[in-house]
Amino acid sequence: MKVILASQNQHKLVELSAILSQLGFEIALESEYGLHVDVDETGTTFEENSLLKAEAVMKASGLPVLADDSGLMVDSLDGAPGVYSARYGHKNSDAERIGYLLSKPTVILQLHRDLYKFSGKSIGGSFKNSDNVIAEERPDGRKIVARGECPGEILFAPQGTGGFGYDPVFFLPELGKTYAELTPAEKNAISHRARALQAFCRIYQEELEHDDK
Ligand code: IMP
Repeated sequence: MKVILASQNQHKLVELSAILSQLGFEIALESEYGLHVDVDETGTTFEENSLLKAEAVMKASGLPVLADDSGLMVDSLDGAPGVYSARYGHKNSDAERIGYLLSKPTVILQLHRDLYKFSGKSIGGSFKNSDNVIAEERPDGRKIVARGECPGEILFAPQGTGGFGYDPVFFLPELGKTYAELTPAEKNAISHRARALQAFCRIYQEELEHDDK
């Protein structure tokens, strides 16, 4: 099935199509269809924003559309930056947004507390989740919304060069690496996006089986 990804983000396209191509989806960015739909992400949840994006591009194209909304939920910041991850602190680059996150007094305090707690270890962890919601809207009115979460810690300083966004400071204790130090295949096996996609695929398969009855 041909599906448009309501995004300009090439990284998301690569991560999503690596998994969804196995289900027979052919995904392309909206720009490949000559579309650049400006969507005001006015929602207060990842679910609301992913549906806003999917619906706007579906109406503009008349085709099935996938949208992905994601971000970091930092415990010591009461869940911030959350839906504002992409525009955190009104900063223009990933590096500036990471710098802004690491300059937050509550994050610094939490990092020092954790460092004290795990004394002897070089890593301070401010517990947080990376969250992802995948929404699909089809012209026949059908919708799928699926969520994935990956727990991790924030590092004092960036590590690794892969991925995008907050990847260099998102540390996975069980792997001893940040997202940015994983290969694409390793990130695709455990990330918040992968988990949302697995949930999405389960719902999609159930719908297909239901339709066949
Ligand atoms: P949006 O989903 O396009 O609104 O953007 C979410 C923002 O969250 C991105 O711009 C990144 O800063 C961050 N983000 C989303 N997914 C990831 C990821 O896989 N790794 C690191 N940062 C991410």
